[in-house]
Amino acid sequence: MRKPLVAGNWKMNGTRASLAEIGEMAKACDATLRAKVDVMVCPPATLLFPAAALALGSAVSIGAQDCSPLGEGAHTGDLSAGMLFDSGAKAVIVGHSERRADHGEKDADVAAKAAAVLAQGMMPIICVGETRAEREAGKALAVVARQVRGSVPKDAPAGGFVVAYEPVWAIGTGLTPTLQDIADMHAEIRRTLARLLGKPAAQATRLLYGGSVKPANAAEILNLADVDGALVGGASLKAADFLAIIRAA
Ligand code: PEP
Repeated sequence: MRKPLVAGNWKMNGTRASLAEIGEMAKACDATLRAKVDVMVCPPATLLFPAAALALGSAVSIGAQDCSPLGEGAHTGDLSAGMLFDSGAKAVIVGHSERRADHGEKDADVAAKAAAVLAQGMMPIICVGETRAEREAGKALAVVARQVRGSVPKDAPAGGFVVAYEPVWAIGTGLTPTLQDIADMHAEIRRTLARLLGKPAAQATRLLYGGSVKPANAAEILNLADVDGALVGGASLKAADFLAIIRAA
């Protein structure tokens, strides 16, 4: 049994005033919820330490949104996995499509970042997803399978990482694939992981769907067989919306 994970990606949103939302989430995630679903919030790096302190002892864990593949040294502006761990992060999102697009990150870069996260004893949330043009050309399954092969470290431990399928055209747009398309893609990702790491590791890996998940559509998406949770952007910024998605999981 894979325990569902609902993770919120705050992107470049939030100041100290926003910590109250995390406080509210932590308060509302009681023992019953905690037994059924893992909850994570990934605020901007500036809020990692206070967010982790606020959520300490609660069901909410804190993650980061990116990291350097390197350990330390002369890399102005970059943050290592070790620094994020030291700030209280338990996981790091790597390969988000906004980083692939804005910073030219390729699969090999994403795999190196994921390896750095694993080496630090944290959980990488490895993002993959096709563009609208790739879907319309009928290439979505092939593109995402290739991203999985290139972005997941070859020695990634069973259950130690998460793959998030986020179609680029569904992020922040209010659009979502059909339930059948989500189901087909998640099954393809699991098959790809089985070829890459073996069937037990593929079965142990949580696959999240991300892209315009909101309270109104969370239950039907999360009910799909190979969907083990959600990566949520906009709807994770407010405790009320995020909690409704957590309850759906
Ligand atoms: C995301 O960027 O990870 C995301 C899923 O965003 P949204 O939920 O806003 O579409």
